[in-house]
Amino acid sequence: MGLFDKIFGKKIEKKIEDNQTADIFSFELSDVEPEPAGTDESEAKAEADEVVAVVESSETDTVAVTPESPVCDTVAETPEVSEAGAAPEHHVAATSETAEAAEVAPVETAQAIEAKYEKSLKKTSRSFGARLNEFLSNFRSVDEAFFEDLEDTLIMSDVGVDVATQLTDDLRHEVKLQNAKSKEAIKHVIIEKMVDNFGESGLDPQLNLQDGLTVMMFVGVNGVGKTTTIGKLANRFKNEGEKVLLAAADTFRAGATDQLVEWAHRSGVDIVVGKEKSDPASVVFDAVKRAQVEGFDILLIDTAGRLQNKDHLMKELEKMAKIIKRELPNAPHETLLALDATTGQNAISQAKEFSNVTPLTGIVLTKLDGSAKGGIILTIQQILQIPVKLVGLGEGIQDLEDFDEVLFVRGLFQDLI
Ligand code: GDP
Ligand code: MG
Repeated sequence: MGLFDKIFGKKIEKKIEDNQTADIFSFELSDVEPEPAGTDESEAKAEADEVVAVVESSETDTVAVTPESPVCDTVAETPEVSEAGAAPEHHVAATSETAEAAEVAPVETAQAIEAKYEKSLKKTSRSFGARLNEFLSNFRSVDEAFFEDLEDTLIMSDVGVDVATQLTDDLRHEVKLQNAKSKEAIKHVIIEKMVDNFGESGLDPQLNLQDGLTVMMFVGVNGVGKTTTIGKLANRFKNEGEKVLLAAADTFRAGATDQLVEWAHRSGVDIVVGKEKSDPASVVFDAVKRAQVEGFDILLIDTAGRLQNKDHLMKELEKMAKIIKRELPNAPHETLLALDATTGQNAISQAKEFSNVTPLTGIVLTKLDGSAKGGIILTIQQILQIPVKLVGLGEGIQDLEDFDEVLFVRGLFQDLI
């Protein structure tokens, strides 16, 4: 059973009999279901013609990066890591004394999480539904032009070229197989195929948590939501009773450390910071050492995302990973790429770029709440074969959820099925 049936149940059972031949590539497209009878024609037409006026600006293929002050090409040398341990100038700001002031978020119910997904995906769902309805209202018959235009519609909906092409090929077959001739039936087949393809990814969305220390590194361009995600995650783990340490290894941007310190205070967790412009690798070294010596469960590492200087970034990330591995050979247990859902196809380009720079274990898709392009999750997984593990559903401390494909699919197609 495909993911679609699992979520929505089988609604269309009309398969073509083996000996029945239908020239699928040139049949008339009706506005009503041919069978079973009883659908009111005018009602069905009104539904099929309904177009929600959501127009999005077109995307460029360039990677959105926030301009920063000039980037230096050289990697500042870390003082050679010695047995002596942490370099003393990287002070550790223990915030345990603020623990009683920390925010303790109440445990969310399953319904509350589902409602959040639904709300966050409303824009995406409307926009996709509008495109699909508009597309279907323009067609009178299912022929080659129909499939070509369908492919264009899918590409415009941020499904991505490769996936749109594959999906359209699959649909040629599936529309025939299901003998779908009405607009509603075809819409159903399109969604069913999208959902089933997505459900077959075989990717595991679970965070790779260890019994001992789990080290997670966060990467991504500026402004995508790395620091915010770490803040939310710190709060979650803290509430679950874990001992959490943060590492402010974005030493490049003024204010980045302060922002993370603020999040640490909000949840009453500890943080390791370095001096501004100091080598992020030495902050990471101090943090890993401290996490080991003091028995922390979770270490969350914030990094700077200067993708416009790939060589430098690659060296910086490599150096951090090397230092972590020296202490903990299997770490980092997660290298999570944060992507901003509102950037649509740009997010895909960023994911491609970053996966060339450093091995990624998962994606955090942020700002789903403000995006009409949440559908890129369908594409990201298929193109990159990297699981989406977390989704950002708002700016609040509790607005981060584990990625749940069922809730996502329900939210995405909430008004269409
Ligand atoms: P960084 O540069 O990658 O560390 O990004 P930040 O964590 O500083 O986030 C940049 C902006 O995005 C901030 O204003 C955040 O409040 C906002 N932001 C982050 N995640 C979300 C989210 O899931 N939803 C919304 N609406 N805003 C978010
Ligand atoms: Mg940041």
